[in-house]
Amino acid sequence: MIQGDLLGLGMGQRENQKQARYSLYAHTRLGYLFYKRQVKKARERYPHGHSVSRPVGFGAVKILPIPVLSNNYSYLVIDTGSGRAAVVDPSDPLAVQAAIEEEGVLLEAILCTHKHWDHSGGNAALCQQHGSCKVYGSALDAVPELTNPLTDKERVSVGRLSFEALATPGHTAGHVAYVLDAAPFGGPPCLFSGDLLFLAGCGRLFEGSPETMLASLDVAVGLGEDTLLWPGHEYALECLSFASLLELDNPALERKLRWATQQRQEKRSTCPSTIGEEKTYNPFLRTHRRELQEALGLTRRGGEPRDAFRARVLKEVRRRKDLYKAT
Ligand SMILES: [Zn+2]
Repeated sequence: MIQGDLLGLGMGQRENQKQARYSLYAHTRLGYLFYKRQVKKARERYPHGHSVSRPVGFGAVKILPIPVLSNNYSYLVIDTGSGRAAVVDPSDPLAVQAAIEEEGVLLEAILCTHKHWDHSGGNAALCQQHGSCKVYGSALDAVPELTNPLTDKERVSVGRLSFEALATPGHTAGHVAYVLDAAPFGGPPCLFSGDLLFLAGCGRLFEGSPETMLASLDVAVGLGEDTLLWPGHEYALECLSFASLLELDNPALERKLRWATQQRQEKRSTCPSTIGEEKTYNPFLRTHRRELQEALGLTRRGGEPRDAFRARVLKEVRRRKDLYKAT
């Protein structure tokens, strides 16, 4: 009993500390200074980026993942016909500028998923260099240099490219995911998910409830199975390893973990996966699955609405993932 009380107090304190640290990072200049140090250290440690990535193209669309910081991805999305481009989450402006110069494109838009510095830290420097570049994002997040606040389902055009902005709160209050419609070029939809969804994982719930995050993840799932997932971080190995502790008998998960282990041994990027694939192994998209609920020891209460139960499952997966990361 005493032990239980102590444990309760310890967990409460840890939670408060976590919130305090998050507040400093997200709302004060300390966060910016921390980011600057992160950029400097990552440039020294990974002069050519943390991973080897390759561009993907459909007709006149070219998507170039740019590995930045120690595990982030920015994406340069190019309309090769007009030479116009957008960049998603340019955290290291030097790496992004180098890609812009190498491709010889005109930067028209920064598509910012959320305010965290490791996604938005390069906005100011790139805007200075590219006077006509617009910055898109949510007015609910304090996105640096924001020029074009977006509403849910609003469209952004860059050359012949068309993106749809989807309000996907949970990680932050104003988190936005972007979907490129590649159908006119014969390609599948491309989801730039920021910190909403990763390969086998999802973002932490800093500014939203499990219910909010569940609704946002459902929006991603609703995009269809062939949708390519381009996440904000290279977290595949850690997320798949964690998932395999929850579901011990999932062949799709085992296969993906084997594949990702090999990819990462050779420092190759694991992006993109597809929403269809993610549904087979990503525990955050499997809250409706009995095998996962049983593994967590959770059962639906009498009269409990289905989504309320799924949110409870999501909360438990997230809690265990946070503990897994802390060890
Ligand atoms: Zn974030």
